[in-house]
Amino acid sequence: MSGAANKRPGTAARRAAVVALALLAHSWAATSGDKNLVVSGRLACLGTNLKETSCRDAPARLALKADTGQLHILAAGDAASTLLQEKRLQTRQFRLTLRSLDSGKTFQIVKTQLIRGGKVYDFHYFCEICNITTYTPGPCMCCRAPTEYREAPAET
Ligand SMILES: [Zn+2]
Repeated sequence: MSGAANKRPGTAARRAAVVALALLAHSWAATSGDKNLVVSGRLACLGTNLKETSCRDAPARLALKADTGQLHILAAGDAASTLLQEKRLQTRQFRLTLRSLDSGKTFQIVKTQLIRGGKVYDFHYFCEICNITTYTPGPCMCCRAPTEYREAPAET
């Protein structure tokens, strides 16, 4: 009788642990499986306190400020800095496809489109020699030849 009484709590605890693990695995999967987010807005420059600052000062981070006012902080990298530094874009308005790997604290850029005069354009850099497309300026990552800036009205 006492043996059975001792056995039951142990089983329950083990079952609870299995449920907890399953929940953990589920929430992890939900986070890493986040769908891409398409956000239109204006490029904003952030200081070290993550408050908006002038883009003339070297900004600590870049963000896309959605039309709703919500800030999407962009992961540091070439794709983000291109938005600020590429003068041929001639705009601070963008439509970005974003993906977060940390529950919305920062976003990686999956796809970059510019908005100019209310129209959306695709843009990229192209190496004719290698037939390679990138979203960041600079020499071709393959043959180091200069790449060509191209833009075209977006189809969607
Ligand atoms: Zn090349």
